[in-house]
Amino acid sequence: MNTRQRDEAYIAHTYKRFPVELVSGKGSLVYDENGKRYIDMGSGIAVTSFGISDDVWIGAVTAQLSKIQHTSNLYYSAPCAELAELLCKKTGMKKVFFSNSGAEANECAIKVAREYARRNLGEDHYKIITLEGSFHGRTVTTLSATGQERYHEKVRPRTPGFLHVKPGDEKGLSKLFETEKIAAVLVECIQGEGGVIELDAGFAKAAQDIAHENGALFMVDEVQTGNGRTGALYAYENFGLRPDVVTTAKGLAGGLPLGAALLSEKVENVLGYGDHGSTFGGNPVAAAGALSILKRLDPDFLSKVKEKGAFLRKKFEFASGIEAVSGIGLMLGLKTVKPAAEVVAAAMEKGVLCLTAKDKVRLLPALNIPDGLLAEAAEVIKEAAAL
Ligand SMILES: *Cc1c(COP(=O)(O)O)cnc(C)c1O
Repeated sequence: MNTRQRDEAYIAHTYKRFPVELVSGKGSLVYDENGKRYIDMGSGIAVTSFGISDDVWIGAVTAQLSKIQHTSNLYYSAPCAELAELLCKKTGMKKVFFSNSGAEANECAIKVAREYARRNLGEDHYKIITLEGSFHGRTVTTLSATGQERYHEKVRPRTPGFLHVKPGDEKGLSKLFETEKIAAVLVECIQGEGGVIELDAGFAKAAQDIAHENGALFMVDEVQTGNGRTGALYAYENFGLRPDVVTTAKGLAGGLPLGAALLSEKVENVLGYGDHGSTFGGNPVAAAGALSILKRLDPDFLSKVKEKGAFLRKKFEFASGIEAVSGIGLMLGLKTVKPAAEVVAAAMEKGVLCLTAKDKVRLLPALNIPDGLLAEAAEVIKEAAAL
């Protein structure tokens, strides 16, 4: 059996895979089982922040691998502590809880919100408002938080306590605070899975204000938008927000599983000994990888991400078959006249890997993708989208 047949035979059929087996790569180039070259415009869904097998990252990860690969959270470990310090110093947050994924980071945020509200607002304040079209993960609870009907069908019963409003519906949000007992509002600054849709900045600020006026928390899911993706360390900075909890994962460790919930002063002590945990969370190898990524996300580098984003966006403006470009920095969505899946398939044929998000072509290249490759990929995508 070849890989494809073995996968079909033995792996649960939850993923509809592209007909490509990726075997190796370097930077923003990846190669399939036949040696065909692709420009990677998806980064494993915003994960490989500095591309495939980045040398600095490999150095950090392998150095840690040869020291100790896992400690459990029963002991102190330097990479984990240093990473938490760096995250706090760069964001002004006060504490970090490490997990392995975005869904788990959000689970932590949800626990924090419920406990904070229980202490400060009362036993029956546990509801969390999220937005229609949002995506917060695949656990039963984070699927319940997700504001998309189609994700709710397979989780019956859903975890109770989640309410959804339309992005931009400030009145609807206010109304929920009058009629329901709310613990928190949780938003993505740019809905990723939902179709690369930016939140209206005025609404985002209003949602934060309304939450705070009611003693509730304002939490931002930066699992996809975080770690330099938008040209800011975290996307909320672009919106002038001051969230009480920030969750992140995907690009944090550059390709190793690591999630984090960043806790502000208001909530830094909500979780106490034994209240939460994870066997693998904050694994030293993943943390060493994350340190090597985060240390390079300085203002200079982030401004280059912004420039690359602007450069890429410009390529698509007024292009045939592309109706609109959405997103910020290197998180872009293309509204194409042809079905997005068709454009992605045609681009793949021509050696460029892209993603879809609802009806959009979604682009999430490595943050350090060379301008030459970016231009080459843009030409291929334009050709694939052209009428
Ligand atoms: C991908 C994603 C998640 C889920 O992350 P996992 O690591 O797959 O659990 C949650 N929220 C957002 C915004 C995401 O994009």
